[in-house]
Amino acid sequence: MILRAEKAREKVARAGAKMARAGLVVGTWGNVSYRVLHEDLAVITPSGMPYDALMPRDIVVVDLKGNVVEGERKPSTELELHVAIYRARPDVCAVMHTHSVFASAMAAARMPIPPMVEDLAQLVGGEVPVAEYGPAGSRELAEKVVSALGEGNAVLLANHGMVGVGEGLDEAFNVCQIVEKAAQIYLWASLAGMPVALSRGEVLKLRKDYLTVYGQQ
Ligand SMILES: [Zn+2]
Repeated sequence: MILRAEKAREKVARAGAKMARAGLVVGTWGNVSYRVLHEDLAVITPSGMPYDALMPRDIVVVDLKGNVVEGERKPSTELELHVAIYRARPDVCAVMHTHSVFASAMAAARMPIPPMVEDLAQLVGGEVPVAEYGPAGSRELAEKVVSALGEGNAVLLANHGMVGVGEGLDEAFNVCQIVEKAAQIYLWASLAGMPVALSRGEVLKLRKDYLTVYGQQ
């Protein structure tokens, strides 16, 4: 296998362990994938294996139609969801699907998360929409997620969990963490009163500043 796919397998094994350590999934649920640049391939976590024991050889290499190219393990049951996102979004190189508690609570209520805190506005740039319900692992779910995701980087899956995407695994992981935090804040703020969303203008400014002046570059 080409070197890039081998490197991608190592990164996905590490990202899966990080996702589990952060409490974004319980047990073997959730999944992570990474695009192999210039190859029309991706690598994805295997179905139903503990994240803390994943080795790079357990990560499955697939093409963007969802066929296994290399690997002895069975790929994640949400393979179709991952490759459908890569086909629809050439800018996306990493996909993380989590079952984190507060995002899943919003998904169970089928309520979008409004942009009411600055880090969500910066990283997601608007509300987190809800994809209509589709059975886990189905093509129907994949199509609904791609449709609701649009050009964004986060989406809730009705009665299921969430998906975060990014140019890399770190970004997809950050999106999943910030959405989980925002869902938690929204639900706690709802106990205190009605959470107030930032105005569209404020959200756009926060997003623009984040992309252009935030950090060290
Ligand atoms: Zn799931």
